[in-house]
Formats: sequence, structure tokens, C-alpha cells
Amino acid sequence: MIKTKRRLIKEDKNNQEINNTSVITLGCAKNLVDSERFSGLLRKNGIEIIPNPEEAESLIINTCGFIKAAKEENINVILQAAELRRKNKYKKLIVTGCLAERYNAELKQQIKHVDYFLGVNSDERILKILMGDRKYELTGERMLYTPSHFAYMKISEGCDQKCSFCAIPLMRGKHVSEPIEKLVEEAKSLAAQGVKELIIIAQDSTYYGLDLYKKRALPELLEQLVEVEGIEWIRIQYAYPRKFPMEIMEMMAKHPKICNYIDIPLQHASDKILRSMRRGVKRQEMEDLLLSFREKIDNLAIRSTFIVGYPGETEEDLAELLDFINTVQLDRVGVFTYSQEENTGAHILGDSLSQEVKDERRGQVMLLQQEISLKKNTAKIGSTLKVLIDEVLADKSIGRTEHDSLDVDNIVIFEGETNLKVGEFVEAKIIDAGEYELYAEVFEI
Ligand code: SF4
Repeated sequence: MIKTKRRLIKEDKNNQEINNTSVITLGCAKNLVDSERFSGLLRKNGIEIIPNPEEAESLIINTCGFIKAAKEENINVILQAAELRRKNKYKKLIVTGCLAERYNAELKQQIKHVDYFLGVNSDERILKILMGDRKYELTGERMLYTPSHFAYMKISEGCDQKCSFCAIPLMRGKHVSEPIEKLVEEAKSLAAQGVKELIIIAQDSTYYGLDLYKKRALPELLEQLVEVEGIEWIRIQYAYPRKFPMEIMEMMAKHPKICNYIDIPLQHASDKILRSMRRGVKRQEMEDLLLSFREKIDNLAIRSTFIVGYPGETEEDLAELLDFINTVQLDRVGVFTYSQEENTGAHILGDSLSQEVKDERRGQVMLLQQEISLKKNTAKIGSTLKVLIDEVLADKSIGRTEHDSLDVDNIVIFEGETNLKVGEFVEAKIIDAGEYELYAEVFEI
């Protein structure tokens, strides 16, 4: 019965010309870059991109399927849109991205009134669907959804690592690097759009090039990106600890454009848990690696993320993690609670710890890091730092130092300062500090 109904809708709407669409992007910055790439393609082919979904005649939802909480949020968004589609608010409703990749058959069966469930990397299919019979071309400048002074640069797709808790390879597949030439062209086009900060992202940015060039080529890519005029900051995120190419730190030491910042998720510090997570590194190796970073780069900010509540994690394992964090004194830390994901290596281990215990352990780690962060921030009072302005509000301006990435790290607050411009760099005198923020006054424009 359902089949007949769906075909009816499809056939009925096939010939309706679509002139605009809106895009809802859920999940991580890598998904955002995907949305920017297919939106650029649509725009180049005459499909107008409408910021407000309520004003658009069709809708694309780019989904995330990473962990339980994200999946629930995404399904709610899809159901709301499907209800609007049922009422013919939209001529077409397309659901793409990780959730649609991971649960394609289930979603098709369980959610009605969605015209298409498309997996990841479906740019051309999306274009074909919206263009109908009209001719199209497969080029198009990335359409930024971020403020124009910064942009994410997704250097590869997928991942070859085998972390037992992670479902990403199930959705994004094997590691595929983008060619250096293509990324340099993209960087030039972004710089021409006013981008000053490039944030390098991938599932595993340090694996870059191994498939394409048979060597770890992130240093080579950086060597070319620093030559792109207009780009002033290049930030490296999602590094992997095992076989870390130290040439990256040499590039960082050599080129002031490369921020003294490295984001390197470490996930845990108990060797028992690291082994079960299939991380391929031990605590001592991670400590030695971080030490070698600090020996190479003065004034380096190291960001990392951890998972607590992994199956089999005991109080002793947690104590090991707390001791590690206290020993290595990271600058920025994020902590997630374990989410049991089907078809991952760890799924078979069950999920014995309650969410309450997981949250409590997360709280312990964050409390320790809060103290470390306050101490480090307080030590910056009186110093002068270069700050990129992200927001100018009615009563203050907000920016970031080279030690802070978007949304996850510290901010710099200029109370009462409203004469600055979004996207400009200012010299800031640090006058006060909190756990996750610095207070500053403009030292020099
Ligand atoms: S490195 Fe590990 S955690 Fe990160 S995407 Fe790959 S498998 Fe997942």
C-alpha cells in the first residue's frame, strides 16, 4: 500500500520545477562542508539557496548518525519536515548525510513523505533531483554557511582506523584524501571570499595522503596552504596520535600562519581501555608525544577529547585518566560519555554503566580541567595576544586567539567594545580571566 502511495507522490511531483531550496545541516563541521559544497553546486546551476526553511519550496536535511543522542535529534527534525511535506508545504524533501547512509532501508520503511533518502556524497544526485530535466554543470564555488572570515577545510573523507566505539567508518567508508591541487584551489577561492582562517578537518587529518601519495602528506599540503594570499591562520584539528608525523610540528614552528594549536583526540589514558578501544597507542606513548610537541613549539595549545563510561571502565581506569590529565596539563578538553553503537567493535561488550555514572565521571574530568584551564588563563593576564573578532554585540565584542577553535574552546571578551569589525585581527591586552574566557581591551588596531 505504502509503495503505491510513494510512487504516486513521486510521479505526481516529478515535473514540478524547483527554483529554490533550503538546507538544514546537522552534526559536525565535516557535514557542514558537505552542505557548503552541494549548495555551491546548486546555486551555480540556478537553484536559489534560501536561509529560512519556512520560505523555501523544497528542503534538504543533511543528517548526522554518529551517536544515539544525535540520531534522536535528527529523526525529530526529519519527522517535522515530513509532516510539512505531507501538507505539500514542500515540493520535494531530501534527506541526506550520515543517518541516511547508515539507516537507509529503515528510514525509507518507517518515515513517510520523504521523497529521497540519499547517503553521503550525493551531490550530483541532489542536483539531478532538483534540476529535473534541466541541463546542469558539475562545478560550483563552495557556498559558505559560516561567517566569511573563517572556513573549514575538509581534506579527506572516511577513516581507516578501527576504533572500537566509532561508527563513522560505517557511514563515511575508507579514508579518501582530496588532491592537494584541489584543496589549494579551494583555499584560494575561500580567500577570495574573505576567509582569513582555515580550519583543517577530517576524520583523521594526520592520515592525509597515505592513500593518494603513499605518504603522510599533511606537511606538504600545509607548505602550499601557507602560500595562499589572504589566509592568515591555519588550524589543525582531528590529528591521530599513532604514527604522528612530527614534520607537522616543524611546519608549525617554521610558519607563523599555522596556529600554535593542535587538536588530537586521545579518548582515554588507561592502557586496558585504550587496548579495548583499539587505539593502537599506550599512555606513555601519548605522554611522550605531547612532551615532544611542547619541546618543539613554545606557547602551544593542545586540545583533546576523551570518552568516559566505556564498557569495563573501572574507578581505577578513571583515576588513570584523571592522573593523565593532571600530568599532561592540556589546554582544552572535551569529554563525551560512551554511546553503544550497533555494528561497532565495542557493541558486543554491552553498556553496563548507567548514564548517571557516566555523567558523574564526565563531571569529575571536567572539574579537574576547569581548574587547569583557570590556572592557564590567569597566567595570561597582562600579556598581549592577537585576536580574531568573531562577533560584535550591542555591549561587547568577542573573539578568539590562535589557541582557540570555534565553538569548543575559549573566547576573548572585550566588554563595552563595539567599534570592532567581525573578521578583523586586533592586538588585545589581557586584563582578566575566567575558566573558559579571557577579558581584554584593545591594545592596538
Ligand atoms: S580515528 Fe577512530 S574515532 Fe576517529 S573517525 Fe576514525 S575510527 Fe572514528
